[in-house]
Amino acid sequence: LIQLAAPLNSLGMLYREVQQGLANTDRMFALLDEPVEVRDLPEAPALAIAGGSVRFEQVGFGYQPDRGILFEVDFHIPAGKTLAAVGTTGAGKSTLARLLYRFYDVDAGRILVDGQDIRTVSQASLRAAIGIVPQDTVLFNDSIYYNIAYGRPEATRAEVVAAAKSAHIHDFIESLPLGYNTGVGERGLKLSGGEKQRIAIARTLLKNPVLLVFDEATSALDTRTERIIQGEIAEIARQRTTLIIAHRLSTIVDADEILVLDHGRIVERGTHRSLLAGGGHYAALWAMQQQTREGLDDRDFAARYA
Ligand code: ADP
Repeated sequence: LIQLAAPLNSLGMLYREVQQGLANTDRMFALLDEPVEVRDLPEAPALAIAGGSVRFEQVGFGYQPDRGILFEVDFHIPAGKTLAAVGTTGAGKSTLARLLYRFYDVDAGRILVDGQDIRTVSQASLRAAIGIVPQDTVLFNDSIYYNIAYGRPEATRAEVVAAAKSAHIHDFIESLPLGYNTGVGERGLKLSGGEKQRIAIARTLLKNPVLLVFDEATSALDTRTERIIQGEIAEIARQRTTLIIAHRLSTIVDADEILVLDHGRIVERGTHRSLLAGGGHYAALWAMQQQTREGLDDRDFAARYA
């Protein structure tokens, strides 16, 4: 019994870490206010988009020189495909997205978008090409309209409404006494996690980026809302190159490739099926998630993919 208890206990710890990761990745997109660490080269040209393929070539990175965070990370997301990163808290998943958005420059290797090293193009053009749906959307203290239109301030009202419809939030907005003029944010109407995320989706749809980074929401949403939103994300992702920072494995079963990160290294990679068959970290995490209450709610879903 003792022999059996030890590995089970360490899996339990791993799983708790994964769960904590749900909360911690919120930090990532607070980074929009982070001090500028990178600069454009003089007369850096705009990124020339041709489908939006992403390539990490032997990327090494640390926030501090003496502490490496990513090591020899190598992957390719062909234009229009979806890659998901999973792993324990602190493994480096969110760092991948921060580097792609060029909050920081890599220490080793390079990151290419459509064949161009992102250090050689203007940050503005790179960031215009990337849409981020954060786990926990921070809304401005302003109207719902402003919060959606922020994705592309020059958009027409018809475009804002169309984005809201596509994000399945239009009917809700119309049901409010002040409609699109309803104030939200800390001083306004309190929205649920699902409603906030739909506003983030509408904002991203309006921006219409070729690259999508989705920091998967989990803890804040009930299973049903989450499932619906996953469907909506899948719809948006279909036309776009997508990087998913994944917390619940059931949401990424259809990803074209899944990377399992551990202490900054890719320790496994493949599709959901191949990773399950491999019987490694991913298979262990998957088995663990099936034990949770939410996992049990998902039994039919899981059976479909097992
Ligand atoms: P994950 O998304 O997999 O939970 P992160 O990419 O957020 O992991 O973090 C990877 C490691 O980098 C962690 O050890 C974290 O503490 C560290 N880290 C994250 N952001 C910073 C930062 N701004 N400065 C220093 N260390 C950081």
